[in-house]
Amino acid sequence: MRAIRIHRHGGPEVIELVELPEPPVGDGLLTVRVSHVGLNHLDLWVRRGVPGHRFPLPLIPGSDVVGFCVERDQWVALQPGYGCMACARCLEGQHALCRDYIIRGERGDGGMAELLRVPASHLLPLPAGLTPEQAAALPLALLTAWHMVRTRAGVGPGQRVLVQAGASGTGVYAIQVARLLGAKVMATASSPQRREACLALGADLAVPYEEAVGAVREWTGREGVDVVVDHVGASTWESSLRCLRWGGSYVSCGATSGHQVPLDLRALFFKQISVLGSTMGGMGELRQAWQAVADGQIRPVLDRVMSMRALGEAHALLEARQVVGKLVVAQDLAS
Ligand SMILES: [Zn+2]
Repeated sequence: MRAIRIHRHGGPEVIELVELPEPPVGDGLLTVRVSHVGLNHLDLWVRRGVPGHRFPLPLIPGSDVVGFCVERDQWVALQPGYGCMACARCLEGQHALCRDYIIRGERGDGGMAELLRVPASHLLPLPAGLTPEQAAALPLALLTAWHMVRTRAGVGPGQRVLVQAGASGTGVYAIQVARLLGAKVMATASSPQRREACLALGADLAVPYEEAVGAVREWTGREGVDVVVDHVGASTWESSLRCLRWGGSYVSCGATSGHQVPLDLRALFFKQISVLGSTMGGMGELRQAWQAVADGQIRPVLDRVMSMRALGEAHALLEARQVVGKLVVAQDLAS
């Protein structure tokens, strides 16, 4: 079969189209013919490399995989992350805390290939009305947002939530999950078009990054927001903390602008702030979020569909922050 593989870290030139043997047929494994794969910021880290982190190269990238399951005669999306299914954490449903947790396309081979073979526990059947390209715009970012907003931050009715980078892949779902839980949402985004997208997804207001602190003050009085959802990191850290009410929670699932931030412990304890980390989530949580999609409570945000053969160009668009929501590539490797 044909696949895209990363043999070494670097620029778009390290993305290679290769011929590989099909993955082995195993006990209980099902064959999924890949039709679409959604891109995440994680794909950029996998390609570029991360100092101090070792990816198992060579690696097939691609975490958000949608295709046709041959044995089930059914369109499916795949769980983007899975645990060992045997340890205490996995048995509790906390797969992302399993020490053997694998994110597809990051710690194990992903979906930029003609086909995959996976256990049945990885399958998420496509709800009626959801196209394969729409489905590929969902799993990883939806799970990340669901786990951050609902599970980690415990957002509830009437709360006020600030979503930093609301038009990003994670942001578009964080806004929707917070709204679904009954919260009021403010989003930040860099351009009028991106702020418009945030409002269309249900944000009550959307402002430029540099106006966040002033806008929150106006929105909440002296109070501040209950929760800040962030994956930008260093460049938004200071404003995020200033936007938070006393007793509020800051929850992070990434650090695209830098990962080292100053923390004044006096502010932490005196204002009783919680700083929460979040990565992916349990496989059961994604099934819950998937049901919210099936019920029409959360909708996919698909910026555009490109050819898998043009993956380098797709990476460039993501790197240039030219994408609102998700960019999806169509599997056309054999053509
Ligand atoms: Zn486990």
